[in-house]
Amino acid sequence: MFENLSAKLSQITRKLINQRRLNENDINDFLRQIRMALLEADVNFKVVKSLIESIKNETHDPEFSKSLNPGYLLVEILKQQLITILTSDNSELVKSNKNCSKILLVGIQGSGKTTTAAKLSFYLNKLNQKTLLVANDLVRPAAIDQLIKLANDNELDIYYDKKINDSIKIAENSLKLSSDNQYQWTIIDTAGRSQLDDEMMKELITIKNKVNPEECILVVDSMIGQTAVDIANSFNEKLGLTGLIITKLDGDSKGGSAVSIVKETGLPIKFIGTGEKVDEFDKFYPDRISSRILGMGDLQTLAEKASEQIDHQKAEDLTKKIVSDSFDFNDLLDQMNSIKKMGSLESIINMIPGVNLNQMGSKLSENESKMNKMKYMIDSMTPIERRNPNILNVSRRKRIATGSGLTHIEVNQLINQFNQTKKMMKSFYGKNGRNLNKLIKSGNFPN
Ligand code: GDP
Repeated sequence: MFENLSAKLSQITRKLINQRRLNENDINDFLRQIRMALLEADVNFKVVKSLIESIKNETHDPEFSKSLNPGYLLVEILKQQLITILTSDNSELVKSNKNCSKILLVGIQGSGKTTTAAKLSFYLNKLNQKTLLVANDLVRPAAIDQLIKLANDNELDIYYDKKINDSIKIAENSLKLSSDNQYQWTIIDTAGRSQLDDEMMKELITIKNKVNPEECILVVDSMIGQTAVDIANSFNEKLGLTGLIITKLDGDSKGGSAVSIVKETGLPIKFIGTGEKVDEFDKFYPDRISSRILGMGDLQTLAEKASEQIDHQKAEDLTKKIVSDSFDFNDLLDQMNSIKKMGSLESIINMIPGVNLNQMGSKLSENESKMNKMKYMIDSMTPIERRNPNILNVSRRKRIATGSGLTHIEVNQLINQFNQTKKMMKSFYGKNGRNLNKLIKSGNFPN
């Protein structure tokens, strides 16, 4: 996420952070690099200019020269500036206090509206809010079927009518349906359109006037860079938007456009899309994103993701199994599934401060592929073999190799690795986890 910007800035910040004294040249060098990095990451030049000016002003403060770690302070100042730009009082979804609340999703084609409609419904359902999805993109041929599939796969309620070719009628019908069935939210997908297409914009204005939504949200693809600002301005002028959802922040996006759009339009970012799956969707947290932009990682998100996946009883049982040497392939599979649920290894590592993804690149994909192979191998074992790794003799290993499409050498390697890992975990835990506690206190984790 925000990779271009964060890779550059993390280089600069790491260099500065350990320096005790910064002279005028260091500061100017820092500001020049920041300016370039922000511009290259598609932050609008006016925004960059005002950011640089306000950082410069702060360095004139006498407190700055007294600071023990001025490099760190400069980075903190920049981070605070980004947080200030990205923070809004209106980042929560607006809810009607009488009727069903309506959310109209608008944007250009391919921005991710249909996917986002399903994600938002999935998110609200998880909060026990009864939500109706409305398939109202009647222009893109596959859009209705795409939303029906997303709804069916994720048990989301949906209204569609392929016989009606009038999006205003569909919108009206959906409102009646939601009020008759006491839905708390109605999420209306709309056809993608260019802000320059007057006819289509007029249609959208009519829909908006009919629906009178609490939220009219522009879905913006973070990959499109600077043009996103023009699109946001234009949709906002014509429709009166209430907020933004920025999608595809998992890709190699020039995340700076998010900063520019917010600064230019004053609209709040309500959510972000971080993948194609329905649960790859988060509330927008300015501090977390600012840390990521600056390459400071996002341990808070990582901790939350991990705690969602950790079942504490299971964790306790697992410790007992490790200590008593009965950790088996079922347990390993469980662990790998928990990690997988947190996202790709790349997205997990990305949240750890100071880790340079570019340098880890090939190792990461090696590990991901090893995990996949391990999974194929375990899938090819019988339940008895999974519970008793010691019975894996030559003929069993050969059968597993054939079943999993791996070579018998690979199967041997994976089993050896499993045995080594098991030994290592046991030595970490020691008796009742004492060694692990010592290790945590020392902070000297092995690679
Ligand atoms: P629409 O034309 O605005 O309705 O766009 P779609 O919802 O069909 O999305 C266009 C493409 O972007 C699809 O292939 C989606 O799977 C993909 N997409 C949407 N949101 C995200 C996201 O947050 N991350 C990634 N990687 N892909 C996304």
